[in-house]
Amino acid sequence: MKKTVIYVRRSLNEMKQKTSIPYQINTCRDYAEKQGWIVHEVFNEGEKSARSSELEERKEIWRLMKEVKSGFIERIIVFKRDRISRRADQYMEFVELLRASKVTMYFAGDNEPQMFDGVVGDFIELLFGAISEHEGNNITQRLIQSRIAKVREGEWGGGRPPKFYHIEEIKTDDEMEKKLMLTMKNKEKIKEVYEFVANGNYKTAKEANIALKRKRASFKNIDLVEFIPKELHKGWMTATYEGISIRSKALNPRLKAVEEKLWDAANEKLKKMEDAFFEKEVITVNPKIEKILYCSHCKNQLGAKQGYYFCPNHKSGLRISVELLDNQIIKSVHSRIGSHVAKNKAEIIDYITEKLITPLEVACTENEKALEKAQDMLQEMTSVCIANPLKYKSAEGKRKFLKPYVDDYKESFQKLKLTKMKLEENRERISLSLKKMLPVPTIQSLSNYKQKELLRFYIERVEVDTDFRVKIIYRTDMRMKREEIN
Ligand SMILES: [Zn+2]
Repeated sequence: MKKTVIYVRRSLNEMKQKTSIPYQINTCRDYAEKQGWIVHEVFNEGEKSARSSELEERKEIWRLMKEVKSGFIERIIVFKRDRISRRADQYMEFVELLRASKVTMYFAGDNEPQMFDGVVGDFIELLFGAISEHEGNNITQRLIQSRIAKVREGEWGGGRPPKFYHIEEIKTDDEMEKKLMLTMKNKEKIKEVYEFVANGNYKTAKEANIALKRKRASFKNIDLVEFIPKELHKGWMTATYEGISIRSKALNPRLKAVEEKLWDAANEKLKKMEDAFFEKEVITVNPKIEKILYCSHCKNQLGAKQGYYFCPNHKSGLRISVELLDNQIIKSVHSRIGSHVAKNKAEIIDYITEKLITPLEVACTENEKALEKAQDMLQEMTSVCIANPLKYKSAEGKRKFLKPYVDDYKESFQKLKLTKMKLEENRERISLSLKKMLPVPTIQSLSNYKQKELLRFYIERVEVDTDFRVKIIYRTDMRMKREEIN
C-alpha cells in the first residue's frame, strides 16, 4: 500500500502562533481524518529557513523527495504552499517531481486552494510560487530599506563594525538603538595611521603595511589599500547593498577621525604606490546565463571572462558583452511572460475565480444567513427573558440563560469576518498576480543570484551566432499555446 504522509516546516522568523509545528501537524492530521486517510509518516523539518537554504540542504524534504521518486508515496499533506518553498523555482521543481511521480499534494491550511491541474494549472502554480517569493522578498527588502535609511542618516547600517569602531546600545526617545561609536583613543589611532602614510615615503603598499605593523600591536591587521580610502574616517557613512552604493547625506561628526586635508594627503600618497591599484574601479559583471548559453555554429557552451561571453572555437568572431546579452534575455523573458498572461488572461482569471473567489462568495452568503439566524435567536431569547421576569430574576441568571445564544452570535460573526477577509485577500492576490503581473517585475527586483536561477527556470537554452542573432529555447511550460488549454 502506498503511503499518505505529512510534511511540516517552520521559518525561523515566523512569530505567528498559527505556524507552530504542532499546529501544522494537527491541521494536517485533521484534514487526513476528514478524507478518511491514514497518515503513515510525518516528515518534520523543524525550524528552517525556506528562503536561503536549497532544497538539498533541508534533510527531511530531501528524504521525502527520495521516497517520492521511489514510488512509495501516494499523497502528501502540507499546511500551505510556502511550507515547501518561498522560492518560485524551488516550489515548481518540487511540483514537477510530484507530477512525474504521480503523487498528489493537498493543502490543509484554512482556505489554501488545492493544487491546480493542467497546463493553466502549471502556470497558476508558478504565479502562486512567485507570490510567496514576493512576500518573502518584501521581508528582506524592508530590512535593506531600513538599513539604507540608516546609512543615509549617517549611521551604521548593520553588520560587523569597521576596525577601531564599536557598537553601543543607546537609549533614544523610547527605544534602544544600536549605534556605531568611536572612542577618543581609537580616533587618535586612526589619525596616526593617516599621518604615517601622509608623512612617509614608501614605494609599495606592501612595504608600508610591514612598517606600520611594527608601530603598534593594534595595527597588525590593517591593509592600507583598504583602510586609507575609507570615507568613514572623515565622517561619511557608505555601504553597498546588492551592488548599489549608498552614501550618507551629511557628515557625521561623531564618527569622524581625520580632517579632510589629512585624508586627501594620505590617499594621494597611497595612489602613488606601485601596487596600490584600487579594485573598486574594476567593474565586474556577473554572467547570468553562463551554463545555458551555446554557440550556434559549433554548439559549444560559451565561456565568460572579463565582462564578455565568448566561444572558445570562434574567439575573434564570437564575443559579446555579458551585460548587453543578459539584459536582452531578461527583456525577452519578461515580454514572454507578459504576452503569455495577456493571451490567456480571460481563461486564467476564470479559472482562478472559480477556484478562489466563488467558493468564498458562497461561504460568505451562508455565513451571513447564519449570522442573521443567530441574531434572531438571540433577540427571541432576550424577549423570553423579559417575558418571564420571575424565572430570570438576577442578572447572573439572565446571563447564564443567554450565554449559548450570545456565543453562537459571536462565533457566526467571527466566521463571517474571517471569510470576508480571506475573500478580500484572494481578490488582492489575483489582482497582484494577473493585473499587475507580478512575476514580470520580480525578475529585475531580485538579487543577481536569484535572477540567474529564474532565467534558468524559464529557459532551456540560448544560442547566439557570430552576427549576434539570439535564439531562446524556452522550457515546455513556457511554450503553452492557446489550443492547449482544455
Ligand atoms: Zn563556436
